[in-house]
Amino acid sequence: MPDCLFCKIIEGSIPSDTVYEDADVFAFKDIHPKAPVHVLVIPKKHVATLADCNDPAVLGLLMNRVRTIADDVLNLAAGYRVVINVREGGGQEVFHLHAHILGGKKLPF
Ligand code: 5GP
Ligand code: ZN
Repeated sequence: MPDCLFCKIIEGSIPSDTVYEDADVFAFKDIHPKAPVHVLVIPKKHVATLADCNDPAVLGLLMNRVRTIADDVLNLAAGYRVVINVREGGGQEVFHLHAHILGGKKLPF
């Protein structure tokens, strides 16, 4: 296994505030929330960054789970923002692919 913070969160060796888990994805609250609701959705398969992920199955699954977690688990029917930071220049700090779900208030762009 890569020495990866989010892989350790998936396996439970680092605790997290889990909001959803299934065979393919894991979702948990961001430790430094940027909005009233700030959840990270990650594939269980380790993928370092979106730019390196030439796998439509992983990407499709991740986006589909973002959609269902936002509606069914987080009750964000009013709307939300999805952010994926890519590599250092895009602000990525943890190199395990993750989608941020941000919501719970009107978000300025
Ligand atoms: P990035 O900048 O890579 O897109 O986002 C990484 C996110 O992971 C940041 O928003 C940061 O607050 C969050 N984060 C970093 N370490 C931890 C941790 O140990 N637990 C949780 N729940 N979130 C973390
Ligand atoms: Zn990982």
